[in-house]
Amino acid sequence: MKKPDKFYITTPIYYVNDKPHIGHAYTTIVADVLARFYRQEIGDKNVFFLTGTDEHGVKVAESAAKSSISPQEFTDRVSQEFKDAWQNLDISYNHFIRTTDKEHQKIVVDILKKLKDKGVLYEGDYQGLYCVGCEKFILESELVEGKCPDHNKVPEKLTEKNWFFSLQKFLPKIKEAIESGELLVYPESRKKEVLGLISKQALPDFSVSRSNKAVTWGIDLPWDNSQKVYVWIDALCNYITALAYPKGKDFKKFWPADAQFLGLEILKFHAVYWPAILLALDLPLPKLYIHGFFSIDGKKMSKTLGNVIDPNKLVAEYGSDVAKYLILSQFSFGAESDIKVEDFPVKYNADLVNGLGNLINRVTNMVEKYFAGQIKIDFKNTKLGQEEIRQLHFRESLLTIWQVIQKDNLLIDQEKPWELAKDEQNKPKLEALLKELVFDLYNIAVALKPFMPQKSQEIIDVITAKKIIKPQSPIFPRLNK
Ligand SMILES: [Zn+2]
Repeated sequence: MKKPDKFYITTPIYYVNDKPHIGHAYTTIVADVLARFYRQEIGDKNVFFLTGTDEHGVKVAESAAKSSISPQEFTDRVSQEFKDAWQNLDISYNHFIRTTDKEHQKIVVDILKKLKDKGVLYEGDYQGLYCVGCEKFILESELVEGKCPDHNKVPEKLTEKNWFFSLQKFLPKIKEAIESGELLVYPESRKKEVLGLISKQALPDFSVSRSNKAVTWGIDLPWDNSQKVYVWIDALCNYITALAYPKGKDFKKFWPADAQFLGLEILKFHAVYWPAILLALDLPLPKLYIHGFFSIDGKKMSKTLGNVIDPNKLVAEYGSDVAKYLILSQFSFGAESDIKVEDFPVKYNADLVNGLGNLINRVTNMVEKYFAGQIKIDFKNTKLGQEEIRQLHFRESLLTIWQVIQKDNLLIDQEKPWELAKDEQNKPKLEALLKELVFDLYNIAVALKPFMPQKSQEIIDVITAKKIIKPQSPIFPRLNK
């Protein structure tokens, strides 16, 4: 397969009204794995990995007021919590954007002016149902028993002057782009969902501004001081403002995005509104990768149920590499996924302590004992599990790697090197066996680099050392419980 020249990866920018949880962590971890993978493939400077925080809107202003601090202080505090969480998880982003950044706000104003000049914005009255929880107008057809299904709240009836985006003009083009693959929407089920929305004509023109009376914390609309830029438009633009659209070197090099990761709840915004804005600006379209909803131990993740998992806690318990492994190995990307936290200790012991950890201990111990730590190996990268990463099949990549681990542990059980070592005549056979095992271990470690950058480097250091000796303390220690 031909390698790309550059690779641009984005996560959604996370709304600061929420604390970092496992859902945010999952999306950020898959983006990190892909970024690390492509840095190995095409070099650090050809990969750009963006994440950040979405910091405007009614809810943020309300939360700040509740904590008796200014919205700016509030967003400073929460965006720092996201940065800290990603540092704990060893996330290798290139840039962390905040929608309160001066540079971002300036470019958003320019984008809005450009859209107005292109004649795709018009002034109108909006009458509709608005969910403060969602921070958006909600359609009658989206309600469940008259309530917003995400917030279990009856929406407010609102009439206000807004500036609108002529979405209708762009729908046929968006449909065509999705069908032709010019706008990639993955997986197939989500592509069908978006095409369904478009063909049902269930997508009215959308607002790009809101009245100052309703929204005080946001970017001023440049030509109408009664309005603020709608928080969603402000947020979507981050993917190009972070690259200093339109003249920035990074923009010219990296746009369009090669992988925009997002959760199902923001599908319409990314697969319809965002492409519409890009088409209006005459920009090429990105590739969108959508992950399904999360549940925790079979239950919907919610603050009221108190089952929201703090990624910092997982890192405190297992370390960043292992936390990432446990999260990514449980389910495939794209599917609806149930995170079984109860299974984490069992999985850690089975896969890492008894699986990989045991293999490392056995192999290094035998090379040390039978060959005084010296064995000649021609290390070569066999690209184990790499095609799977390219396809965004992260769990499947790990499964491929673990097949080799299982095969090798079984091989040791069957060949019984400790028996071979008893007879000098068997020395060549023993050497061949250990060479195979060390060679495999090297490739396992290389394959794990995007997933477990620190642990894999520890393994590589041990087996490429002048003298291979069993690590004094195990790389994957047994849990004390
Ligand atoms: Zn809602």
